Amino acid sequence: SALAVAAALTGCGSSEKTIDQEARSGDTKGALIGITMPTKSSERWIHDGDNVKAGLEKLGYKVDLQYAQDDIPTQASQIENQITKGARLLVVASIDGTALTSQLQQAGDKKIPVIAYDRLIRQSPNVDYYATFDNYKVGVQQATSLLIGLKIKNADGSEGSAKGPFNIELFGGSPDDNNATFFYNGAMSVLKPYIDKGALVVKSGQTDFKTIAILRWDPATAQKRMEDLLTKTYNSGTKVQGVLSPYDGLSIGILSALKSNGYGTPGQPYPVVTGQDAEVASVKSILAGEQYSTIFKDTRQLAAETVKMADTALKGGKPAVNNTTDYNNGVKVVPSQLLQPVIVEKSNVKTALLDSGYYTQAQLG
Ligand code: BGC
Repeated sequence: SALAVAAALTGCGSSEKTIDQEARSGDTKGALIGITMPTKSSERWIHDGDNVKAGLEKLGYKVDLQYAQDDIPTQASQIENQITKGARLLVVASIDGTALTSQLQQAGDKKIPVIAYDRLIRQSPNVDYYATFDNYKVGVQQATSLLIGLKIKNADGSEGSAKGPFNIELFGGSPDDNNATFFYNGAMSVLKPYIDKGALVVKSGQTDFKTIAILRWDPATAQKRMEDLLTKTYNSGTKVQGVLSPYDGLSIGILSALKSNGYGTPGQPYPVVTGQDAEVASVKSILAGEQYSTIFKDTRQLAAETVKMADTALKGGKPAVNNTTDYNNGVKVVPSQLLQPVIVEKSNVKTALLDSGYYTQAQLG
């Protein structure tokens, strides 16, 4: 394409060390690209894998796409295999962002460019680019939708009709996923002033990231934690009115703990529960009036950005990035392309998810 040609031309003479010399001058047609994704247990990663693979194949690349069932050694050996098979570029959505250092060193030694996909790979110099969403903003949006659901704020940002105090509980993502602290910090930037002035009360007292984090984003662990909170903290008739949940899978676990404790009935409505990823089950739950909100991150866009990055890098060019400050992986700041997340609740399911063609009516029916 004209774009690729332009990118290849502007890339000439660039001093980027990590780009394969051979790829610069030579033929990248039919080159093998390795994609590793964390797990198939969440829909989003299936969409991500399929979309990146299809995009790259459309440009004539060969693709090896692997999922690791959230098992770190499996992902490490998948990456090793891809390097052995002659992969010319790697796209990695890591399970544990710090656990791939030696595999990526092998890639670095062979001048194989590495793109971190959605999750930053930490503690390695061998990460060339990062394609993701504005993760801090995701957290800000999750917390904002919690305030909107509680009517403390209106959707247009103005002050809402309710002042509280409301009882809320907080859940965090997996501590080994760099995104999780971004979501948490973004969310707390919005919630903390309300907690400080008493409009929001975290009744369990558990507000520390470490205390509220859910390892591997496991829905069953979240369900168990919610059950424990309900038995220990909400055992004397007090009700929980809001739950900050950073991922739809966790929200489903949280809602089922609530349901088995009598929530979700006319006299005792569900608390406002947030989410992320706009997964089908959660969008249906939103439409049914159970989960309150989710954050839509269009995986088609992320895949398209990643495909562009990979193609440009392979052809010796410099992929476009829009952030060179926020994502320090402990060794270097990784040049990043950040996409915009969108709050979805009942009233904009149609415009955000159906009109955009992300889902069909039949899928949500
Ligand atoms: C992703 C989220 C996802 C979570 C659990 C995070 O790294 O950014 O979109 O909800 O992992 O899979």
